Amino acid sequence: MAVINERVEARYYERSGDSYICRLCPHNCRISVGNYGRCGSRRADEDMLVAYSYGKVSSLCVDPVEKKPLYHYRPGSRCFSVGGVGCNMSCKHCQNYAISQLPSGKKRSTYKKPDEIVNLCRNEKQDAIAFTYNEPMIWFEYIMDVMKADPELQLILVTNGLVSEEPLRELCRVTDAMNIDIKGFTDEFYMKVCGAHLKDVLRSAEIVHGCGVHLELTYLVIPGYNDSDGEIEEFCRWVRDSLSEDVPVHFTRFHPDNEMMDVQWTPVETVMHCRDMAMEAGLNYAYVGNTLTDSADDTYCPECGATVIKRLGYLVDPVSLDGDRCAACRHRMNIRL
Ligand code: SF4
Ligand code: SF4
Repeated sequence: MAVINERVEARYYERSGDSYICRLCPHNCRISVGNYGRCGSRRADEDMLVAYSYGKVSSLCVDPVEKKPLYHYRPGSRCFSVGGVGCNMSCKHCQNYAISQLPSGKKRSTYKKPDEIVNLCRNEKQDAIAFTYNEPMIWFEYIMDVMKADPELQLILVTNGLVSEEPLRELCRVTDAMNIDIKGFTDEFYMKVCGAHLKDVLRSAEIVHGCGVHLELTYLVIPGYNDSDGEIEEFCRWVRDSLSEDVPVHFTRFHPDNEMMDVQWTPVETVMHCRDMAMEAGLNYAYVGNTLTDSADDTYCPECGATVIKRLGYLVDPVSLDGDRCAACRHRMNIRL
């Protein structure tokens, strides 16, 4: 990748007359000189398309991996979490709109070179780095360079899944675990609330699963928007038939935020009902999020029913886990250590 005058050239774009077409995500933005793409992270200069958000770090934190949420990837471990700026969706309920949605120049960030971010991660004694908070796919060049700086790091991406196939396959080669948001299960919801197409996100999840990257899914249940039984059932059938019944799914509670302050918190019963529907559809691992429950966040062996991992909030107790197997019946669980 060419670095000219401290500007980093974007990948996956082409010149088209006096503008550029960015091919990093399905929006395929046409960007004329002096302007930014829809995500605010690519800028068209006279001589090239610039990865404008490269190295612009907005947030740093050491988190439990369960917070991503990832329940089946190194359970009970921690990761060094890094956020950037910008997003290629525009969810009306975005909790992180201050870093994802403000116009390009107005987001607070600090520049960190790839080796600086690696050093910060290693100084915290972490061997896993998670790109999260805003959308990591639009940080493609930076993430690839961080992994080049320290290929031994475990890489976690918490993403909306809106990325084109070729860069996604390239990322999958260096990624260990991904949590993809499935924000609803109708295109109408995706277009109205998030500004994207459902099919593009589903295709990404299928590619990630096909590449063998550990995958978990989060479905934020919003009352009256994406919580109908039909929609949830269709989502669960898609997970079972197009991915696997072993892919963990997390039904999380919505809370009012951003442009959706008038919508109420999701009742706990609703997410519990979604979890029940997932189990009825044959999914082996379904959880609820943004609520404390007695047992709905525990992991059960799909073979013998034993409780394998107990959870309370971010407290994790592998009560009957031996390696990646159920200690009671030796069934191999979908758990990456
Ligand atoms: S990555 Fe950004 S600039 Fe590129 S197509 Fe997607 S929204 Fe547009
Ligand atoms: S995809 Fe995530 S970061 Fe982007 S707008 Fe939606 S909720 Fe916010």
